Amino acid sequence: MQKMTEVIWLLFIWLTGACIFSFADAAAWRLVRNMDILRDRSRCDSCGRVLSFWEMLPVAGWLLCRGRCAFCGRRVSLRHPAAELAGGFTAWLCAAYLGISAESVLTFLFLSVLAAVTMADLDVMEIPDCFHAVILILAGLSMLFSMLDAAVGQGSSWISAPSLLSRITGGLCVSLPMWLLTMKIPGAFGGGDIKLSAVCGLFLGWRRMTAAVILAVLSAGAWGVFLLAGRRAGRKDHFAFAPFLCGGMFAVIFWGGPLWAWYKGLLLP
Ligand SMILES: [Zn+2]
Repeated sequence: MQKMTEVIWLLFIWLTGACIFSFADAAAWRLVRNMDILRDRSRCDSCGRVLSFWEMLPVAGWLLCRGRCAFCGRRVSLRHPAAELAGGFTAWLCAAYLGISAESVLTFLFLSVLAAVTMADLDVMEIPDCFHAVILILAGLSMLFSMLDAAVGQGSSWISAPSLLSRITGGLCVSLPMWLLTMKIPGAFGGGDIKLSAVCGLFLGWRRMTAAVILAVLSAGAWGVFLLAGRRAGRKDHFAFAPFLCGGMFAVIFWGGPLWAWYKGLLLP
C-alpha cells in the first residue's frame, strides 16, 4: 500500500512538473509571436488547429500521435515533448534535493522561467522582458520566505538561501562586467542576457551566480569552437548565450557542492 502511495506521489510530482514546463514552453512560443499567453489555446504549430485533450497529455500526447499532427500530418517540434520531459525530471530533482518546501517550489518555478527563456532565446535570440519581471518577483518572494524562516528560528529548513548582501552582490557580479564589456565591444552580450544575469543573481546569490557564469562561458566557448571547427559558423556569427547561462544555473543549483569539491580537487590534488 505504501509503495503504491509512493508511486502515485512520484507520478503526481512528475506530471505537475511536466505541465508547468509545457506552459512555460507555450508562453515562450506565444510571447515571441505577440500572441496572448493566457487566453490563446494550444494549437498545432503548422496548421493552427486547436489541440484535443489527448494531444495535450505531457509526452504521451506526442507519442500517441507518433510525433505528427493528426490533421495536417506535419511533424510536431521535438521541443514540446522535450520541455515536458525536462519539467517532470526537474520537479523530481527539486523534490529529491530540496524536499517539499517553499524553497523547493520557488526553485522549481525559477527553473521553469529559465526553460521559457531558453526556448525564446533559441527561437528568436531574444528574451521577453516579462520573464525578467517574473524572476524578479520570485527573487523577492524567496528573500521574504528566507527572512520569515530566520525570524521563526527555522533557518535550517532553508538549505541554500543566500543572505541579502549575497543577493545584491549576485545581482551585480555578472551583469556589471557583462554590461561594461558590451560598452567596450558592442554586441558582446545582448541586453536580455545582461538583465537575465542581474535578476538571476538576486535569486541565487553571488557564489552560485559566479559558478553558473563560469560553467556557461566554458560550455558556450566549447560550442563556439565546435561550430567553427565544423565550419557551421563564421567568426562574426552570434549564437544564443542564455541557454548556456540557464544550463549553468541548473547545474549549480543541484550539483554546486560536488562541482566545487571536484574543482578544488583539481587545484589541490
Ligand atoms: Zn497541424
